[in-house]
Amino acid sequence: MPTQTYFELLEMLQAEAHPGRPGRHRHVCPVCRLTHQGVDRFMQLISLEKVTDVDMRLQLRAAGGFCNRHSYQWLKLNDALGTAIIYEDLLNEATKRIEKGDFQARRSGLFGRQAAPGNPFSPCPVCLHQEEIENRVAHDFAEGFAEQPRFREAYAGPGVAGLCLPHFRRVAARLDGAVAEEFANRQQEKFGATRQMLRQIIDKMDAGRKLEQHDEAAKQAARSIGEEREALTRAIWQMAGLEDIS
Ligand SMILES: [Zn+2]
Ligand SMILES: [Zn+2]
Repeated sequence: MPTQTYFELLEMLQAEAHPGRPGRHRHVCPVCRLTHQGVDRFMQLISLEKVTDVDMRLQLRAAGGFCNRHSYQWLKLNDALGTAIIYEDLLNEATKRIEKGDFQARRSGLFGRQAAPGNPFSPCPVCLHQEEIENRVAHDFAEGFAEQPRFREAYAGPGVAGLCLPHFRRVAARLDGAVAEEFANRQQEKFGATRQMLRQIIDKMDAGRKLEQHDEAAKQAARSIGEEREALTRAIWQMAGLEDIS
């Protein structure tokens, strides 16, 4: 049964395949985009409703606050009261733990060797939530690809830049047989298109170098990068995922 996430994914792929149509059609991994949106929404929810929520309070205490990345995302929400309430509690908790000696190396064994203290914190609650979103979206993507011909057709569109490698892996792990093979072939085409654009850039730079005896203007002209410039950022997210994801 197609979910709302499935339809969101389909809409993104169709918009990418037909950039003339109105709507959003950025060339970016759709799983990254939905994950980004989900994380943003979750942080806003914490700010609006969960600052004094007991469960969230306990999770944040156990985690020693948000992880580094999500701490700075939180700061960008500009929630003065929420930040003051959450961080008064976190600093208070950290102070108590210092008092108890929680972060001290432990003496152990006959000769009193120091054992390095392990990480005393549980994972960041936003990271845990992000993991849930990524799994759900990858699941719906895989199901859509396996079961819906129009989803497969939309994904095959030459304008569609495809998934990043981390999300390709998540989806591929959920497919098998002929469908898995087709999915892998599509992804190779997407990476191939980027490689072609990168090759154009390398060739232009080479051509510029070979014009040594020519004037500077001719060199500049030979080196000027056009539409293929997009491949530089595309190659980065195709390998690593969007910034702040994975
Ligand atoms: Zn991605
Ligand atoms: Zn985090």
